[in-house]
Amino acid sequence: MKPSKQTVNKLIEEATKVREHAYAPYSKFAVGAAVMCENGHIFGGCNVENVALGLSICAERSAIVKAFSEGCRDIEVIAIVADSPSPSSPCGICRQVFYEFNPNMIVVLANLQGDAIIKSASDLLPYAFKRHRENDSLEPDKVKKS
Ligand SMILES: [Zn+2]
Repeated sequence: MKPSKQTVNKLIEEATKVREHAYAPYSKFAVGAAVMCENGHIFGGCNVENVALGLSICAERSAIVKAFSEGCRDIEVIAIVADSPSPSSPCGICRQVFYEFNPNMIVVLANLQGDAIIKSASDLLPYAFKRHRENDSLEPDKVKKS
């Protein structure tokens, strides 16, 4: 379901606000994210880096973990805001996390200039890694080699 323009704007506003809390001394690239759950609750998150860079967490996962910590399991929309010439795209780890919780999650990519791109988690991660169940279309025996 496509979110309303009002919802998109509210999430971009929240992501922009929480971006101010980013801890990004190494990359100098502050990112904010905000998720909206089915019940309308909004949770924000920012990137938090570590000198051991592998321990850093992206704003997107920060917001999702925050939502889950508060009992939200049905994230429908996420907005991501960064100070970049064009809307910044989430990393592969975050894309896999979006897909895990909702392949149809709406992902709003925005920058501080007001540019925005709207995609779904599935758009951003075609052929996502997933468990192979009976109805999965990518069961090993159904995947043809090219
Ligand atoms: Zn990420």
